[in-house]
Amino acid sequence: MSESIQSIRGFGDVLPAESPVWQFVEETFKAELKRYGFDEIRLPIVEKTELFARSIGEVTDIVEKEMYTFQDRNGDSLTLRPEGTAGCVRAALQRGLLHNARPRLWYTGPMFRHERPQKGRCRQFHQVGAEAFGLSGPDIDAEMILMSGRILRALGLQNLRLEINNLGSKASRAAYREQLVSYFEGQADQLDEDARRRLHSNPLRILDTKNPAMVDVVRDAPDLLAAIDDDSRQHFETLQQVLGAANQAFTVNSRLVRGLDYYGGTVFEWISDDLGAQGTVLAGGRYDTLVAQIGGRATPAIGFAAGIERLVALVEAAGTAPAPTRPHAYLVIGDPDLLEEAIALAERLRDALPGLQLEVNAGGGSMKSQLRRADRSGAALALLLGHEEVAAGEVTVKDLRGQAEQARVAMDALQKTLLPLCTQ
Ligand code: ATP
Ligand code: MG
Repeated sequence: MSESIQSIRGFGDVLPAESPVWQFVEETFKAELKRYGFDEIRLPIVEKTELFARSIGEVTDIVEKEMYTFQDRNGDSLTLRPEGTAGCVRAALQRGLLHNARPRLWYTGPMFRHERPQKGRCRQFHQVGAEAFGLSGPDIDAEMILMSGRILRALGLQNLRLEINNLGSKASRAAYREQLVSYFEGQADQLDEDARRRLHSNPLRILDTKNPAMVDVVRDAPDLLAAIDDDSRQHFETLQQVLGAANQAFTVNSRLVRGLDYYGGTVFEWISDDLGAQGTVLAGGRYDTLVAQIGGRATPAIGFAAGIERLVALVEAAGTAPAPTRPHAYLVIGDPDLLEEAIALAERLRDALPGLQLEVNAGGGSMKSQLRRADRSGAALALLLGHEEVAAGEVTVKDLRGQAEQARVAMDALQKTLLPLCTQ
């Protein structure tokens, strides 16, 4: 026997036992996004490499070392999307969604980053993202943050904290950046390799270090919020007031930054302490310059992306997903001769009862082995169809979970027997 082929490192499968939790997470997002006025957009998984280089930033971790970039047969440089915002902006521009409109869009799907796989970090991972275009005020920032909080509550997740910050305008950020670089230059011996590399390319990102050895040097760094411009400060204050009025708890973390270049102004993260170092489950912020950077007219925008793997892990631990559904009934076929009758009966029942989950025994087998399969399927009832039953126009109904007596039911009355199960 030849060796079986394994998956690629960092590329997971979602197994049948896990998919109910995934569906719960995805459906919860979908329902709440709709309530806040967001419409779904479906985007390609592959885009031109240039799109990501231009939007995410040449000197970010993602573009420097994490992208899956390849040449297609025409020699074009293409990349598996590492995130969804760039493609969403590209589509909104290209398809004219920003003309005289302020679309609120969401998307979901796999993203790809060549990172070191570990708990909560994979190379193919999944996000749900939401983006709102054309709005520059703290009102939409508050709506997005409150919506994300509502989604996380609807998932039954309690121990999450919201951190917010404001990165200021481009000009104030540039001034702060200089302060920060000269501070870190003075502490060069305390910087780790990543920080030294970022010192001149992306120094704000040093504030986001996950290295415990850097805590002190980062704590004493100049304060970002002391350096932001007045407009940003006003925006940030209003946002905090609106969140307060909506009873949304938060902490201001002046060291909160984002790893992608396009962010400015409001940024926020939802963080769990139950996931170790990979604690951020949902992160977002404003990117008012990105649309112009990609070639459109200046359009303010704000968005977030949530990591589904991390949310699934939390939902599994919290046990808040609804139990997976089992078949309502399992049809046991008493004799191979009765195949036609059995399948026709099953189809009639499915026509009559749209909610019915009915599994028909396939692959033959003795009565005993079919009943064993019925039991293993988790079905509530076994329906037995033998020659005697067919002759009498009846079906034997066997309760697989409770104490009810086995009973013969007329085929015409079977719907009535099954109906209460399907509407539960
Ligand atoms: P981190 O600091 O954890 O690397 P990031 O800043 O790179 O995150 P974003 O690009 O903002 O993350 O993505 C938003 C969310 O997507 C993250 O908060 C996280 O939940 C999830 N995410 C990002 N990268 C991965 C990954 N490699 N595996 C699993 N989930 C991920
Ligand atoms: Mg990352």
